[in-house]
Order: sequence, then C-alpha cells, then structure tokens
Amino acid sequence: MPDYHQPQPGAVQITGLKEVAPDLVVVPSRDAGLVPNIGVIGGAHSVLIVETGMGPSNAEKVLKFAAGYAKGRRLYLTTTHFHPEHAFGAQVFAGQATYLVNRAQADDLAAKGAGYLEMFRGLGEWVARQLEGVELASPDLLYDGLYDLDLGGRMVQLRPTGRAHTKGDQVVTVPDAGVIFTGDLVETGQFSIFPWFPPHDTDVSGLGWIAVMHRLIDESPLIVVPGHGDIGGPQLLADVRDYLEQLREETWRRRDAGMSEQAIAGQVRAVMTQRHPDWVQPEWIERGVGALYTEHAA
Ligand SMILES: [Zn+2]
Repeated sequence: MPDYHQPQPGAVQITGLKEVAPDLVVVPSRDAGLVPNIGVIGGAHSVLIVETGMGPSNAEKVLKFAAGYAKGRRLYLTTTHFHPEHAFGAQVFAGQATYLVNRAQADDLAAKGAGYLEMFRGLGEWVARQLEGVELASPDLLYDGLYDLDLGGRMVQLRPTGRAHTKGDQVVTVPDAGVIFTGDLVETGQFSIFPWFPPHDTDVSGLGWIAVMHRLIDESPLIVVPGHGDIGGPQLLADVRDYLEQLREETWRRRDAGMSEQAIAGQVRAVMTQRHPDWVQPEWIERGVGALYTEHAA
C-alpha cells in the first residue's frame, strides 16, 4: 500500500483551544500529521464531541478534556468519517458518551476498518504504537437521513453528504453559530486527500465531492472547521471547490487528447503545485488525477 498522510505524525495536544462561538471550542490539529481538528459543542444539558483522535491514548485525552468541559452534562460523540485519526479512538468513549453516526459511515468502518488499521500500522513505528489496542467500535445509535441532536437550547445537525472523500462522509453543523465541521472534505493549506488506492479502496469520488462543495457553499456558513489545518471562513469551501474543478478540467482535457494517466498525473501535479506553492502534500494530486481519470465519462 502507498503512504497515507505524509507530515510528521503527532499526538493530540489539548493546547491552543479555539473558542469559535459561545460554548463551542475546537482542539486544533496544529501542524501535526494524523491529528484532526476536534470539536466540543455545548448546550444546556449535553455536549457533542466531534472526532476521537487516533487510537486509545489520544482519545483518552479528548475524553478527559471533554468530560471536564461538560461539567456533568451528558456526552455525545460523532465522527465525520471512518478514517483512523478521526474515528479509531471511539472505544474509549463506551459507557461515557453516546456514539452516533450515519449508516454509510458505519458501513465504511465495517467494510474497510480492519484494512485501514493494517495499512496505518505499516506507516511506521510511532503510528503503530498509537494504534495498539484499537478495537473498531460499534456506534450506539445509527441514523438514516438527517439527525437533529438537541443539546439543550442548541440544535446540532448531523448530515451525510453522499460519496465524496469517502462513501460515508457526514458534516456537522451548528446553525445558531453558523459553524460547519467538514471533516476531510476540506483541509486548509494542503491538497485535497484522495484515498484512491486501487484495487483496495476506490470509494473516493471527485465528481461527488465537487457537487458536495457546491451544496455546502450555497448554505453560506460563517465558520468552517476543516478536517486538518486552520479554521477559516467560507473561502475555505470555495478554495476546495475551485481546486477540485481545476483538477477535473486539467485531467479530462488531457485524457480527451489521448494522454496516459501517468503522463497526465505528472503534468497536472506540475500545474497544481505552481498554482498553490504554499500547499503541502502534493502527492495527493496524482491520486486525485487517478480518481477523476476513472470517473471520466467513457
Ligand atoms: Zn480522511
């Protein structure tokens, strides 16, 4: 299997907390690889945690922080998609928080969780250590359609987007604060992650992803919490939409001209790194080309 996330992996650290709205904090991903932005959203009687961190020891830090923050309020947990740094700590929350996710995400975990655990363990000793003792957790509550979670005086909406970064992505929105947690549908300062690993995993859809970005932009959120990287405004959504559309156009134009996928990947990587000299992880460009090349209408 190819390398997955490239930056130096790090541990979750409960530092630099960002209060993005009243009673709504984000434990930031900083620049550490394999650390997601983690949300803690409070209401009068309950608190929702978004993302677990990777493996039991990271998740224990998240749970400890959230339990202290909640001060006796009931805890809920959700994850934006099944990938290890987002969801492979859920077991720690058993009996402490009600874990709820969309059905497609649970299906992803059941179908691919063990394979991802294996792949990530192969990324290096440090990652393997973080993943020691991981058991793939079963959600307490599975929903179809949308789920409105009442935290007490604050409604939070959980919503599957349809196939994009994974088959089972969901976004979490806090309407009273104009906040959206996008998971890996959006990253700040890096090329979009296409987990395109044929023949093992070909679920990512560049075309689905573009359609999702248009829908999210139409909702005009004020604050966007990406999967990784700095929190921002709606421009983060527009940047991803523009990048994905350019990736599609650059790939398809060359495919129409009869170029091979490999030749296209090389050229498009050069074009895109020139357009975004400050973005990291350019190796995801080739994987994006692979996905979109395959999605080209024959
Ligand atoms: Zn992901």
